[in-house]
Amino acid sequence: MTENIDWQKRISPVVQAIPPSGIRRFFDIAAEMEDVISLGVGEPDFVTPWSIRESCVYGLEQGYTSYTANRGLWELREEICALQKRNFNIDYDPKTNVLVTVGVSEALDIAMRAILTPGDEILIPEPCYVSYKACASLAGAVAVAVPAKIENNFSITPADLEAHVTNKTKALLIGYPNNPTGAILTKEQLMDIAKFAQEHDLIVISDEIYGDLTYGGERHVCFAGLPGMKDRTILLNGFSKAYAMTGWRIGYAMSNPAIISAMTKIHQYTMLCAPITAQIAAVEALRHGEKYMKKMVSEYDKRRRLIYDGLTNAGLKCFEPKGAFYIFPDITSTGLTSEEFAEQLLMKEHVALVPGTAFGQCGEGYVRCSYATSVTKISEAIARIEHFVQHCKK
Ligand code: PLP
Repeated sequence: MTENIDWQKRISPVVQAIPPSGIRRFFDIAAEMEDVISLGVGEPDFVTPWSIRESCVYGLEQGYTSYTANRGLWELREEICALQKRNFNIDYDPKTNVLVTVGVSEALDIAMRAILTPGDEILIPEPCYVSYKACASLAGAVAVAVPAKIENNFSITPADLEAHVTNKTKALLIGYPNNPTGAILTKEQLMDIAKFAQEHDLIVISDEIYGDLTYGGERHVCFAGLPGMKDRTILLNGFSKAYAMTGWRIGYAMSNPAIISAMTKIHQYTMLCAPITAQIAAVEALRHGEKYMKKMVSEYDKRRRLIYDGLTNAGLKCFEPKGAFYIFPDITSTGLTSEEFAEQLLMKEHVALVPGTAFGQCGEGYVRCSYATSVTKISEAIARIEHFVQHCKK
């Protein structure tokens, strides 16, 4: 006898209310088509550099197959702290200030769960990475979107934030270099945000996963390195993008001992530890991987210039990205919505990209193209987009 149970009704209302990621839908369609060029996924097309892979193989040969400390391998925590000292002159203690996580994804989730209680508000500049709002909802909190506009180079100012702050605001989440716009913030802009955070006594979650990927002489400024911000910031970073290690699932969080202990508590019950194989590889990445990372960054820079020029010549207004590996062209001149543009481009020209609305309502009028793919594919995609745009404008 089959039972007639409505399982959908058994799903937690919190989970039911979260929409599925707007990125995936188009990939399910694209996966069934031939000859598709994808500018959709936010994933390096490079394989993890060999010396990093080899360190993992060697670790396995040596029998490193166990759990590690909840907070992560000591050597890895030491290397992570040494990196912050080297790059930003910030002093972190490997014992109390760092937690190794299963990617920045896990770090985002547990950072929010550690500091937010139901009903709290967290300010999130939009457009932004798809997980931010969902993680806030899963923590029972309310994500308050702060629109970042192209007129301001997709940056946000204290005035933008001030317009959305309430007595329930507990935190601010910034993600620069930005996915999807490619915007970065200058030290002065970040100092203004730091002042705002201090005035309103907010914790700042700073997702700096694209921090190594900046171009044209611009250097990433670490938010935690600004005066007075080290303890107030939960700095998140990882290996997925800079070291082409998306599949390894490894990242980290850094903050004051109380916050790191609270995050570790959630991590120990839900994840226990990050995979030891990935942790061993991450140690190698930090010890010897920088030269490979720099090579990949210079390759992304070439592609960035190619796609910026190509899409601009194709008749789309583009903000020149300064970091990450995305460009976010304005497609309003075609008369189509973001969803229509993405869907019709896929059907007619077999190019997959992501509608701007996947990154929040203020992404309407834009699409996100990733240039973490080969020059040949980018060139062909530009030609197809140009053909499509000309057809739309007729
Ligand atoms: N943060 C941002 C801004 C991202 O774009 C991504 C992945 O695309 C992540 C976090 C997740 O990274 P990880 O692979 O470390 O979980």
